[in-house]
Amino acid sequence: MKKIPFVTKEKVQDIVKEYPTPFHLYDEKGIRENAKAVKEAFAWNPGFREYFAVKATPNPYLIKILHEYGCGCDCSSLTELMLSEAMGIAGEEIMFSSNDTPAQEYWYAAKLGAIINLDDITHIELVEKTLGTLPETMSCRYNPGGVFQMSNGIMDNPGDSKYGFTTQQMFEGFRILKEKGVKRFGIHAFLASNTVSNEYYPVLAKELFELAVKLEKETGADIKFINLSGGVGIPYTPDQEPNDIYMIGEGVRKVYEEVLMPAGMGDVAIYTEMGRFMMGPYGQLVTRAIHEKHTHKEYIGVDACAVDLMRPAMYGAYHHITVLGKEEAVCGHKYDVVGSLCENNDKFAVDRMLPEIEKGDYLVIHDTGAHGYAMGYNYNGKLKSAELLLKEDGEVQLIRRAETPEDYFATFDGLDIYSKFRFGRR
Ligand SMILES: *Cc1c(COP(=O)(O)O)cnc(C)c1O
Repeated sequence: MKKIPFVTKEKVQDIVKEYPTPFHLYDEKGIRENAKAVKEAFAWNPGFREYFAVKATPNPYLIKILHEYGCGCDCSSLTELMLSEAMGIAGEEIMFSSNDTPAQEYWYAAKLGAIINLDDITHIELVEKTLGTLPETMSCRYNPGGVFQMSNGIMDNPGDSKYGFTTQQMFEGFRILKEKGVKRFGIHAFLASNTVSNEYYPVLAKELFELAVKLEKETGADIKFINLSGGVGIPYTPDQEPNDIYMIGEGVRKVYEEVLMPAGMGDVAIYTEMGRFMMGPYGQLVTRAIHEKHTHKEYIGVDACAVDLMRPAMYGAYHHITVLGKEEAVCGHKYDVVGSLCENNDKFAVDRMLPEIEKGDYLVIHDTGAHGYAMGYNYNGKLKSAELLLKEDGEVQLIRRAETPEDYFATFDGLDIYSKFRFGRR
């Protein structure tokens, strides 16, 4: 499917008068339409809730939009919990799916009334010790090991992943929790990442539903919810077909009716923790070409770098690029599109066929709405970019300002660093 940016060259020329590049731009209309579709796709399940994975896009303006569609927050750290709290999202609207968890984070999550999703059997004792008692509702994260495979060949490797309880530990853990007075139980698993397939959730759901039936039978635990977590993917490349969330919802319904209903478990709520699917396609990194360099290869230097979007450097991930105003031009030039870090992996694209790029051209790097800005860091003393929201009425709102040198130096407590600058603050 042809990838079309949600902004035009004219719109960007307008935006940069107020907010210079680089910036992440989010599309309110797209976010809303998708959130509505997710809600509708699982409406057959009365207890359904999507807990947006805060780590994917930790911006309160965006998460508040999702909250209007009933989404809660999936948190995995203290600051993510605090962010949810600040937005007025608390209690069972928070799923705390952490791992290697510091005790005080369990304490904070419990204070907020969040649902605690344990990553390891030894954490039962930790939570009990930290809180004095166990919450009445608890969830355990499952990892069956081995490889996870679907009919289209997509697979992932749970056996290599650090997360979750083994099958045996799930049974043991549920017994212990029940003995210690836990009344309501949940099961969680994340077995494959970025699945561009309508099959992932239904295959995962079947496995978890079958486990739930056995767990309830053998331990007597009252299972109230099954959390399919994240992993629903998006098409980063133009040749991929996007997932159809309605088909995914129907696929889960089918196995629910096959496995849970006959076991008398027709009251189990389905939870999800999607991050990428909720936000990925609705964010784009807008950057300007500032250099062209002709050496052993053809380079285009842009004003964004891996600090703004780490996925290409970190995983060699593909992000589609559109040169604004040249959408229909022939892609006759082979470029490496690079940022300014002193790291040779700071490349948004390698050997990419693109239209001829001139200095000053605006480039849209697609699908940066999840795990984009959020993964950023400050290597080379580079400052993180702004985040802007393109509202439904066409207005643009600054939803996070760009970092300044003050932000970068702010943690040198007690050092009057500003008096040392001969040329002022910027
Ligand atoms: C990262 C993560 C998610 C979200 O994953 P996506 O691939 O963005 O859908 C959900 N749950 C947990 C526990 C995670 O770590």
